[in-house]
Amino acid sequence: MSFTYQRSSALFNEAKQYIPGGVNSPVRAFNAVGGDPVYVKSAKGAYLHTEDGHQIIDFIASWGPMILGHAFEPVTQAVVAAAKNGTSYGMPTELETKIAALAVSMAPNIDQIRMVNSGTEACMSAVRLARGFTGRDKIIKFAGCYHGHSDSFLIQAGSGAVTFGSPNSPGVTQGTARDTLLADYNNLGQVQEIFEQNKDQIACVIIEPIAGNMGCIVPQKGFLEGIRELCDQHGALFIFDEVMTGFRLAAGGAQETTGVSADIVTYGKVIGGGLPVGAFAARQEIMNHLAPLGPVYQAGTLSGNPLAMSAGLAMLDHLNKHPEVFESLKAKTEHLHKGLADVLSEKGIDHQINRYGSMISVHFTDTPVTDFASAAKGNNQWFKKFFHGLLERGIYLPPSAFESYFLNDALTYADLDKTIQASREVVRTW
Ligand SMILES: *Cc1c(COP(=O)(O)O)cnc(C)c1O
Repeated sequence: MSFTYQRSSALFNEAKQYIPGGVNSPVRAFNAVGGDPVYVKSAKGAYLHTEDGHQIIDFIASWGPMILGHAFEPVTQAVVAAAKNGTSYGMPTELETKIAALAVSMAPNIDQIRMVNSGTEACMSAVRLARGFTGRDKIIKFAGCYHGHSDSFLIQAGSGAVTFGSPNSPGVTQGTARDTLLADYNNLGQVQEIFEQNKDQIACVIIEPIAGNMGCIVPQKGFLEGIRELCDQHGALFIFDEVMTGFRLAAGGAQETTGVSADIVTYGKVIGGGLPVGAFAARQEIMNHLAPLGPVYQAGTLSGNPLAMSAGLAMLDHLNKHPEVFESLKAKTEHLHKGLADVLSEKGIDHQINRYGSMISVHFTDTPVTDFASAAKGNNQWFKKFFHGLLERGIYLPPSAFESYFLNDALTYADLDKTIQASREVVRTW
């Protein structure tokens, strides 16, 4: 019954010799949960096949992109066919127009879209565009929201809550930090205060409309609507970072599910079908400022890459033709929510489960989780035990309490019930 991962550990030890920390992205190293990462050999549908010879159930879906399960046939076929025609040209292709037209038809409030290679690049470019459009320098972001690793976003709260941020990584300059102002998620009063203290200086507010990088945190009623009004009053742009929520919550992402419109929207994850893609989009008036039409510079040797565009187009095309996927995922996530809540309540374990569409997270705390500070109150020892207990039973959760699970539509109700039953076994001895 108990799965062990010896070969993964051996591979990790070897990797550490040549790759910093053994990984190409830090969360994979298991620092937050301890132990060694699991090495994947292949994946199909809802299952990962590990180097240890196990088939395990996947609840991260490559952190979102594999919304239809791994090696989804139409996407795989599109990529294989594209590869035979050459993998990169540095020249325009018709494919780029096709995916742009489809994306624009699916999401509200956007006329044009520019493809880049990651969510980081998308958010970085969106902020540059907002600054270029407004002629202002400062931006407002929320503590605990992740917008990729570009300098402007690696900022933590300074001494007071409503104050300049300070760098939270060496290598980010004080100068950069001064232009990023931080507010707490779900605290509209703070956003208003920052606007008032920085009149005519705020280029944009950037937000995860449903936060997924401090666990899943849902915007309270009136929060997004209130920011929308403040942006309009003060001539600032509202950027929705939909790298996680875009084409996952609905065809039109969080703009559709919340009914709040953004000025610039960033995408990533699902839009690339599992290949490295990001994108940012806006109405014509704003996109006209972007090179080669306007002065705001942005470029990429591999942007619009034919393999990536083929994967993304096959993915979006399927979602566009099968919007019932979003409902199906939501129902599965609800089922998991109810099952896990029952298990934890039966044992009297303090917990909060946050859920929105197909995003869900379990927090081991008795107080509601509405922002970064309340998410940080979660008991990490319990999280680690929960994570490793499930891993030993062949179930892979995100290896950090600050990440949302991502369900994929290949998961069956039997997989979910197995996960719920395994959780029951894990907490039995607590
Ligand atoms: C993943 C993520 C990013 C960064 O995307 P990368 O492709 O990892 O650079 C940005 N914003 C949000 C909301 C994300 O979830």
